[in-house]
Amino acid sequence: MATQLPDNRGEVVFEDFKPAYTDAQAVTEANRCLYCLDAPCIDACPTGIDIPTFIRKIATGNVRGAAKTIFDSNIFGMSCARVCPVEVLCVGDCVYNRFDESPPIQIGKLQRYATDIAYAKGEQFYEAGPDTGKRVAVVGGGPAGLACAHRLRRFGHAVTIFEKRDVLGGLNTTGVAPYKMRADKSLEEVDWVLAIGGIEVKTGVDVGASPSLGELLADYDAVFVGIGLGPDSPLVVDGETLDGVMGAVDFIEEMKLQPSRFGGVRHAVVVGGGNTAIDAVREALGLGIPEVTMLYRGTEGGMPGYAHEWKAAKVEGARALWQRQPVGFEGADGKVTGIRCVRLDDRKQPVADSEHVVHADLVLIAIGQSRLLDQVAALEGVRADGRRIVADEAGFTGHPGLYVGGDLKNGAKEVVNAVAEGRDAAVAIDAHLSTSGQGA
Ligand code: SF4
Repeated sequence: MATQLPDNRGEVVFEDFKPAYTDAQAVTEANRCLYCLDAPCIDACPTGIDIPTFIRKIATGNVRGAAKTIFDSNIFGMSCARVCPVEVLCVGDCVYNRFDESPPIQIGKLQRYATDIAYAKGEQFYEAGPDTGKRVAVVGGGPAGLACAHRLRRFGHAVTIFEKRDVLGGLNTTGVAPYKMRADKSLEEVDWVLAIGGIEVKTGVDVGASPSLGELLADYDAVFVGIGLGPDSPLVVDGETLDGVMGAVDFIEEMKLQPSRFGGVRHAVVVGGGNTAIDAVREALGLGIPEVTMLYRGTEGGMPGYAHEWKAAKVEGARALWQRQPVGFEGADGKVTGIRCVRLDDRKQPVADSEHVVHADLVLIAIGQSRLLDQVAALEGVRADGRRIVADEAGFTGHPGLYVGGDLKNGAKEVVNAVAEGRDAAVAIDAHLSTSGQGA
């Protein structure tokens, strides 16, 4: 694809928050691993990477083999090494956590070490299988769709990816905090995945308008839908259209892909308490905005975002106002100047006479995103439970030939979950195409 991004986009001011291991550091850390037989770290990884095996390969100098072990389970092993919340996945389950003296094995950093070397050397481990004559449409060019497409190509099926944006990579490109991974790194990974060959990519195509999902199902032997979430949900209060009020996801995407226009902002308020809110807080601070305040309707102990991420945000200077509910915005000359809010009690009920204004010249709304379920859920045999499409473990929806994965299936989890679901759906699609000859 070789997409070019502007050199002066907002995210380039961010430093890498977890510097890479040197050879000596990687080997030393790898030698601490106990190579557990029933390794809990494997079970904690949604893609089931054989962690003790890849770590042992690093310890014995077989870095190429280590990378291959990672990519065999997770073709997005390079980005997952950077963006996975390892503290609550593999590292969080490492047996060292049961001992007092030593920290858990730094699995993410070892994975980054092996995969970075493979990328730097231009290693490619996979090639497309013999042509089966089957054609599969993949809707969505994020981690779920690309992982599905890559595995389908290994089986020899022809694949076409339909992506609404101009760039592939999904959240890795548009939404991951830049201190974890920048957009250009994500695009490098996209090119590496596409290097298997034979994956046709159609960007700027909004499946639903034209072509419809029904048309794709008629034209292809199977369809995998791996689209992410839709736009930020609004607060629906007065003044939300003022200049300076925007969705947090839009803010993050703009900062990652375009030149920064937030240089004059003095005080940003981020509304929400989830991981997107914390990312927006840390990114606003990283852009140099002097005061950044998170405004959340619950307490600090009840916020849904990862505690370790919030702890880091506080170290970086974030403030918070707990138990606050926005009720409107203040503005002048069409621009936001503040956010009106009320205090909430422990039952999240407004406290009488508590309305006050928090000054802000940028307000980022991070209370969730809409879900793009409608077109998929409208198909015969497909069920939605409100937040997600109901599908079996492999992503089969019940509608012949239609599979889902990623946010649509899991209700919005991590990149690594999307990768696992895309990969597993490809295996199921291949099984159906191989046995039925006509798809599921
Ligand atoms: Fe190594 Fe920890 Fe996994 Fe055991 S649980 S294999 S020590 S990384």
